[in-house]
Amino acid sequence: MDKKRVATIAIVVGIMVFLLKVAAYLLSNSVALLSDALESIINIAASVMMLLALSVASRPEDVDHRYGHHKAENISALVEGILIIIAAVVIVEASIGRLLDPVPLEDIDLGLLVSLGATSLNGILATVMMREARKNNSIALEGDAKHLFSDVLSSVGVVAALFVATVTNLFILDAIIAIVVAVLLARMGIDVLRKTAHDLMDSACEEEEKLIEEILDANSGYIEYHDLKTRRSGTKVFMEVHMCLDGDLTISEGNRIIMKIENDLRMAIPDIVPNIRIEDQTHCKKFRPKKAE
Ligand SMILES: [Zn+2]
Repeated sequence: MDKKRVATIAIVVGIMVFLLKVAAYLLSNSVALLSDALESIINIAASVMMLLALSVASRPEDVDHRYGHHKAENISALVEGILIIIAAVVIVEASIGRLLDPVPLEDIDLGLLVSLGATSLNGILATVMMREARKNNSIALEGDAKHLFSDVLSSVGVVAALFVATVTNLFILDAIIAIVVAVLLARMGIDVLRKTAHDLMDSACEEEEKLIEEILDANSGYIEYHDLKTRRSGTKVFMEVHMCLDGDLTISEGNRIIMKIENDLRMAIPDIVPNIRIEDQTHCKKFRPKKAE
């Protein structure tokens, strides 16, 4: 499925879920269901932002952005993480009032039923999005799917709390479990932020580097390589390396060797953007014997 289509579906389903949760709040007058509904607004905003980011991220390179617009996905995930943390704070804030002054809940059965309906809708959407995120290797989509999962988690917590609260008449439980769910939410938000900050700081792509080294080692025609560097931008993996060739080779011969290696790299890692610098043997950093054919 196209990432943009997934985002559009997420927005439509998000609005449906939000309206259902508002109805559940109006029916029950539960502060936990209110905060649950509030979290859905942030959900919709996040999906809209993801759609914008995807439209920008897939744009080809232009005069201002020679390396493309891939980082738009990272920025979107960053905002996403911040939104999840804001949702957690809002839930805690709403819960504290009821914690100090618990009130009996009204038409709770119907409220819980409506909330559960909205939650299962969210659960299906989150599963579809996580699958698409893995398939497309998209951080923005993964951030959104994680947010949705956190939404499902918090909703289930809220429904469980309200159920126990009505059975036991302990209405303070409503606020307590809502706060617990908010802490879980905050943790997920921090996780999304950490992952995005990691990529924005140009951290090395460890998995891909191992694969690159394997491919370089499997190739021949060069003396040694050094200064291998990788960094991730959106879904792209930018890679550079210095490669020492025999100085007596012609430029065409050297170029052929490099192009073969670059081709092998692209076959193994479709999102790679290789940049190989040719040097002669006087630049060898460490001697690396040429592999036998
Ligand atoms: Zn060098």
